Amino acid sequence: MTTPELDWTTRFSARMSRVRANEIRELLKLLDQPDILSFAGGIPAPALFPAAAIKTAYDEILADPDQSAQALQYSVSEGYLPLRAWIAERMALSGVACDAHNILITAGSQQALDLLGKLFLSPGDTVVVARPTYLGALQAFNAYEPAYLDLPDGALDNGDSADLITARSPRPPLGYFVPDFANPTGESLARAQRDALIDLAYATEMTLIEDAAYRELRFEGEILPTLLSLDIERCGSIDAARTLFCGTFSKTISPALRIGWVCGPRAVIDKLVLLKQGCDLHVSTVNQMALHRTVAVGYEQHLSTLRNAYGVRAQAIGQALARHMPPGVTWSQPQGGMFVWVWLPEGLDGKVLLERSLIEEKVAFVPGEPFFAEVPAANAIRLSYSLPTEAQIEDGVARLAGLIRRMT
Ligand code: PMP
Repeated sequence: MTTPELDWTTRFSARMSRVRANEIRELLKLLDQPDILSFAGGIPAPALFPAAAIKTAYDEILADPDQSAQALQYSVSEGYLPLRAWIAERMALSGVACDAHNILITAGSQQALDLLGKLFLSPGDTVVVARPTYLGALQAFNAYEPAYLDLPDGALDNGDSADLITARSPRPPLGYFVPDFANPTGESLARAQRDALIDLAYATEMTLIEDAAYRELRFEGEILPTLLSLDIERCGSIDAARTLFCGTFSKTISPALRIGWVCGPRAVIDKLVLLKQGCDLHVSTVNQMALHRTVAVGYEQHLSTLRNAYGVRAQAIGQALARHMPPGVTWSQPQGGMFVWVWLPEGLDGKVLLERSLIEEKVAFVPGEPFFAEVPAANAIRLSYSLPTEAQIEDGVARLAGLIRRMT
């Protein structure tokens, strides 16, 4: 005799009503076919992984009995101290004077977003975000049942943002921004917008999360200060700041190591450590030790290889878009990172375009709609140039442009 399956949906907690399958991840599974030319996955180019250096690091650690005893053991939730100290020194080079106590190692920056959501959001709290914003951040925050306020384009330039925020009741406690080469747009906040955001955070008493996932991948233009460094300039010290900086080695070394960090006031880091403990105790010790060895030598040179490689591809996609796209299509001009955001003519839905593109052109990309937290827009798509070759970029953009012409 068999009993019917349980209806689990009636048993899940209230917070699960906001936790849904990530459309993009679901979509990416279908796109993993050899004959598809893909601009979809925003993942690092595997040829750029420093595999030999990583192998040497693991070999050396595991060959040494003292090191391997430590590497294969449980360790502290804060993270491997030499790695935290290395990160603190590097943060100091960009205007963030801090020490290892201001750094928590997390399982990628994705875990940092989850822990920060857990720390700062009560159900119904509003998170201020860009329009569009990183879908994975929305996914992380959604489990804490927030509302969203997305800042329209230009709100940081014309001073409207403070009014928009103070008009919300209760006042939004948290803002989340990707100031450098954002996912999905590839765009960065200008210097004046960064200053405006810090002013806004102080004026509205908002805590800021600065997601710096792509910051190291600048291939053009001048380096702009981090929000955290501007905050420290204003308040005097990291422990007085209201910005939490999330960094990651996923885009520069390897996402599989799952190593990111939060840099911020010690009072916040101490609380995050407790949450991290309850969540997964700590990031893999052997991975942290191997990563530390890997970045200790030749990191700058490795970064410049990455920047050159992505810069060439970004230039190729910019030129291909200019050559092939019909009037009415516009796109962002990234100076770093992995993404171009394309606005389609009004009325052309990115999801409909994708359905036809997969069948008629065998070209994949990600529709823009899931990246909008509050007020959606359907006529946009995200193209990632991190994986295709220059020839594939030219071919894929030409095919996509042909389809857009046929559909408009
Ligand atoms: N932030 C942004 C803006 C991202 O694009 C990503 C990866 N897609 C992450 C955070 C998370 O990356 P990880 O957890 O590998 O550091």
